[in-house]
Amino acid sequence: MERKHHTGLCPVFKKCGGCQYLDLPYASQLAKKEARMRELLRGICEVKPIHGMEDPFHYRNKTHAVFGKDRRRQVVCGIYQEGTHRIVPVTWCMIENEKADEIIQTIRGMLRSFRIPVYDEDTGYGLLRHVLIRTARATGEIMVVLVTAGPVFPSKNNFVRALREKHPEITTVIQNINGKMTSMVLGEREHVLWGRGSIEDVLCGMRFEISSRSFYQINPVQTEYLYGEAMRLAGLGKGETAVDAYCGIGTIGLLASRNAGQVIGVELNSDAVRDAVRNARRNGIRNIRFYQNDAGVFMNQMAAQGARADVVFLDPPRTGSTEEFLRSAARIAPSRIVYISCGPESLARDLRVLGKLGYRAESCQPVDMFPETDEIENAVLLRRQENGKGRG
Ligand code: SAH
Repeated sequence: MERKHHTGLCPVFKKCGGCQYLDLPYASQLAKKEARMRELLRGICEVKPIHGMEDPFHYRNKTHAVFGKDRRRQVVCGIYQEGTHRIVPVTWCMIENEKADEIIQTIRGMLRSFRIPVYDEDTGYGLLRHVLIRTARATGEIMVVLVTAGPVFPSKNNFVRALREKHPEITTVIQNINGKMTSMVLGEREHVLWGRGSIEDVLCGMRFEISSRSFYQINPVQTEYLYGEAMRLAGLGKGETAVDAYCGIGTIGLLASRNAGQVIGVELNSDAVRDAVRNARRNGIRNIRFYQNDAGVFMNQMAAQGARADVVFLDPPRTGSTEEFLRSAARIAPSRIVYISCGPESLARDLRVLGKLGYRAESCQPVDMFPETDEIENAVLLRRQENGKGRG
């Protein structure tokens, strides 16, 4: 593995900005991340050795390519150069799924013969803006999302047929319409061009359905470890109640439901909530309920109604949780809180808040979810102090 660690192997290393650590041996990357967590959580919590990957390449199950024209008016696809709207051509990436990269190149090669114009950000003309590919590691299912500027896609049936002939491993193709001048890749409207419109993956022995706009962890190998660790930390018992806040498609709550009495999941994105409800049904799970709401508002309502829970899981976006959520979570008085985080700074901030609310952080398990980059995922266990309130 170590021998692969050479920036020479990635021609766009500096321009892309995606793999900040690509020029560091993997062992040094891990050491650096662990040291950073120790530093950030000093005085708050013990930090365990980081859980790394055996093969830290090609781990991503989601690949995105932007389509456009270069200065010579040639069709290019790849990534935006960091902080700009210039497209850096990418044909191959060290952390993306190799099959996904192949499919993107096939699509690029087909555009001319199918007369599909790529979108021009300056003039607003053209059709194809982005391609997004999701692969399910356990089942091999592959979703291709073609993001177009408008709804009219003249050659779509022939195009999809030809694409499937070249890549029979594709299991569903979706047209997503995004007419807005925005940095968001996906728009709100979608047509399924072929297949079911979603893919299914298996994690920790459970099946999960994923649609194009739902959040799903991008590194399935490390996610199995992360979720397993979250369950070990929670140590749920049969009669206990758990909350899964920021639950996405319900992964953590559904895994917890196997050991708990009942589980309540809350999530803002309605597509993800729909996936979560389906996932409960698909896995034959009856002791879980999902609610579409802001996690803070929902938790506040639970607290106001005098609800109680034994364990609260929270897995917020990088910016972390809110005072409203954390205060309400403390009011429903769980004996344990399991905080999963992809934002080390917001994690440290929120752990301080929880400390003042009577929850002591016991241990932090860093997980290398994003090898070659500077990002760090963590799972932290907090316990309610016996005497109710903690410091302050
Ligand atoms: N636990 C899930 C998802 C974690 S990602 C998993 O492991 O797959 C964070 C999730 O928080 C996303 O699904 C996002 O849609 C959701 N989210 C963002 N802001 C939110 C808010 N204010 N209230 C509830 N959910 C929110």
